[in-house]
Amino acid sequence: MWLRMRFDIGWADVAFGVRSLGKRFDREALHQRIADCWPAPERMFTALSVRTAYDLMWKSLELPPGSEVLMSALTIPDMVRVVKHHQLVPVPVDLDLGSMAPDVDTLRRAITPATRAIVVAHLFGTHLALDPIVKIAKEHNLRIIEDCAQGFEGCRRDGHPGADVTMFSFGPIKTITAFGGGVFCVRDAELLARMQSLEKLYPVQSLWSYVKRFTKYSMLTAMACRPLCDVILTVSRAAGWDYDHWINTVARAFPGPRWLERLRYQPSGQLLAMLERRLRTCDTTAIAARAARGRRLAQAMPHGAMRPAGHIDEHTYWVFPILARDPKRVIAELAGAGFDATQGCSLRVIDPPEDRPELDPCVAREALAGMVFLPMGPAMPRRELERMGRVLGRLTDDLVMDPQAVDPSLVFPRIVLDLRSG
Ligand SMILES: *Cc1c(COP(=O)(O)O)cnc(C)c1O
Repeated sequence: MWLRMRFDIGWADVAFGVRSLGKRFDREALHQRIADCWPAPERMFTALSVRTAYDLMWKSLELPPGSEVLMSALTIPDMVRVVKHHQLVPVPVDLDLGSMAPDVDTLRRAITPATRAIVVAHLFGTHLALDPIVKIAKEHNLRIIEDCAQGFEGCRRDGHPGADVTMFSFGPIKTITAFGGGVFCVRDAELLARMQSLEKLYPVQSLWSYVKRFTKYSMLTAMACRPLCDVILTVSRAAGWDYDHWINTVARAFPGPRWLERLRYQPSGQLLAMLERRLRTCDTTAIAARAARGRRLAQAMPHGAMRPAGHIDEHTYWVFPILARDPKRVIAELAGAGFDATQGCSLRVIDPPEDRPELDPCVAREALAGMVFLPMGPAMPRRELERMGRVLGRLTDDLVMDPQAVDPSLVFPRIVLDLRSG
């Protein structure tokens, strides 16, 4: 079985993590070394997670209660909960399927005198061209916050110069994970200073809390190794367990009702040491190789199959989604052929404020309902990617087709073949 769920970390990193447990670290020095990995160290802010720093950011911005925050309509639920916690109103902006970027016309229509900020997510490994959105933000004097949690491409790219804040996550399921940690590029020095001084008031994550997290994710990493994983998948399927649901629950970093309190810690020396190691030794060729696998898989797709964000050229394929009319059937067929595809993901659609039902993000909603994520791990050879493409080629009736991809030169021979065979 070719598995979709894997953690982007090596055994040498895990061994480093184990050795780090008995050590003491100079946390200030590690903060500096993490910042020094990026082009503008003086702007960087490192926290326990993206959500931790995001919470600190809204607190520091001190926007008037009831201010509206426009957000990419698809994101992880906590990003919305944090906004609401600060008495702000999250307003979804529906997405363009081809790019998964906020639709610019919808964005303009959603702006009101109460709008103060825009949060744009680069989803699935894309690098969106933000210029049009930055332009709108400047026209209306809005803060622009860029969510690159899924779009890390190496430390050399620290975000759009027009964004106030750019956020990178090194949480468990992210690129070059440190099993936790978030790094922000904050281009407003005053805002950065406020976030730093507020964070200093938090207790430091305890060694025990780090050990628990580290052990959990190290074990999950071991379970994602192929032979072991095959056994787990076979057993859980036979027993009727929902493996997908389970893995998504376990991989959620801060579950439970005390979610916000759990975020409000400074990172431990061990977490900072792991993050520093991961950033310092970050191998962008591995990210480039993933991007190349994604492009190969894109080529192997049945012609015209709709892929969310498939029109974006700058794409490192953190994940590879397609759209199905009948996701269950597509997943079952792929499983039968040895490919572990899934519908499970941590993204949710943001509901519009009650008095603005016209902003319901129906494109994002429908897309999420039909989304199937394909496996494309580093161990998968080209012929397996191509075989997966052929399996999907037999399922085109169950897939959503891209209206923009109707290329007559390719459709024509198919029609001829259909006529011959019919
Ligand atoms: C993972 C993720 C986050 C949160 O990152 P953490 O570091 O786990 O807090 C935020 N936004 C998006 C789009 C993500 O995928």
